[in-house]
Parts: sequence; structure tokens; C-alpha cells
Amino acid sequence: MSLSTDDIAGNLAAVRDALAAAENEAGRPRGAVTLIAVSKTKPEAAVRQALAAGHRVFGENRVQEAEEKFPALRRDYPDLELHLIGPLQSNKVKRAVTLCDVIQTLDREKLARAIAREAAAQGRRPRCFIQVNTGAEPQKAGILPGDVAGFTAFCRDELSLDLAGLMCIPPVDEEPAMHFALLRKLAGENGLAGLSMGMSADYGVAVGFGATHVRVGTAIFGARQAVA
Ligand SMILES: *Cc1c(COP(=O)(O)O)cnc(C)c1O
Repeated sequence: MSLSTDDIAGNLAAVRDALAAAENEAGRPRGAVTLIAVSKTKPEAAVRQALAAGHRVFGENRVQEAEEKFPALRRDYPDLELHLIGPLQSNKVKRAVTLCDVIQTLDREKLARAIAREAAAQGRRPRCFIQVNTGAEPQKAGILPGDVAGFTAFCRDELSLDLAGLMCIPPVDEEPAMHFALLRKLAGENGLAGLSMGMSADYGVAVGFGATHVRVGTAIFGARQAVA
């Protein structure tokens, strides 16, 4: 696939085609998978190109960066949907709940409580994905697989959060397939429908394992500069 940073519409069309092919191959209906265009580090102008091409679902991994870009975009495109896909500090929960439609990185009890509190205070109800550390990597955020059932019950039954599903970021040096399979199994065991998994390099594989949301940055917006 050719990739050009000045042809975001073309890149989007290519990813949409590949996604449709993967859905078809997996025997899943067309449109079963939501494409989240990950615009982190990219300027507002790049997001506008994607919006002009008809895309509406975006992912950012920092609250601050999302705040710089998205309020203006949302005024012009009220049907835009913003997913927070990066780590969320408790002191930024208020702003995240104001700005984001979906929080994909619910990874600890304190954060869950803070989101529930803010959601009630603001009269908003962000959909949440529980981030699962499928590879049990010490440096990575996420609920360990063995703790997913307890944490899901806590978020759903005690806090009444709007739980959409599970999310994972597989270890970089491993086959993602086994992690996607594990996430699907955990979601099934816990009655959760959503599976956010798959990025530019492996979203086709993720669709085969039942992904409902894929998070694709580089294949749409081009390579990112390394960020400090
Ligand atoms: C950056 C990022 C992505 C997108 O990665 P690409 O490889 O550029 O598609 C997906 N998910 C998360 C959590 C990210 O931080």
C-alpha cells in the first residue's frame, strides 16, 4: 500500500478498503468494525482533511493535545466522536469527561471512581473500555487478565459506568494474534461486546479475531515524529 502524508483522503480510502476486505474474509458484515483515526501529534489541519473526507471517529492519547485541537473541530462537525486512547491521570478526568465521548484506558479503581464522579457531576456518560494488560508487561498499564472479571463487575455494578468493552495493546515483540484471542475470550466471559484492538500493522488480524474498533494512526496520517 502506498502511503502519502499529503493524501489523507487517499490513505483513508485505502484503509477503509482493507478493512472491508478483512470484514469480508472474516465473514463479518460490512461496517462491523469502527475505524478510529488516531490523530495524535498531527495538526488540526490533518484532522480536517479526514473530516472533509467524511471521517468522524478520532483517537487522541493526551487530554491536553485533544483540548488544543478538538473543541474547534467539534463546533464545525457536531457528530464527531472522540476516543481517548492514552493513559489518563486522575487530575485530568474532569477535562477528559468534558471532551471525550469514549475513554478506552480505564485501568484502575481510582480512575473508575473519578470517572463515575465526574460523569454524574457533568451529566455526561462517556462510554468506557477497560484496558487489559494481556501480556502482563510490568511497564504497561492495564488490568491483568485474571483481574478483569472483578474489575468489570466493580465498574458495572458498583459504579454503573457505561462499559463498552475491552481494549489492549499487545507487546511489541510478540504475535498479536494470541493477545487478540485472549481479549475476545475475556470479553465473552464478562458479557462485554466491544473489542478495541488492532493498529496500523495488524488491524486486519484483529478483525479476524472479532475487533469491533481498530485504532489506526500511521496508515492514515503518515509516520509520526518521535515525541519526548
Ligand atoms: C498511537 C496509537 C495507535 C495507532 O498506532 P499506529 O501504529 O500509528 O496505527 C493505536 N493505539 C494506541 C493506544 C496508540 O497510542
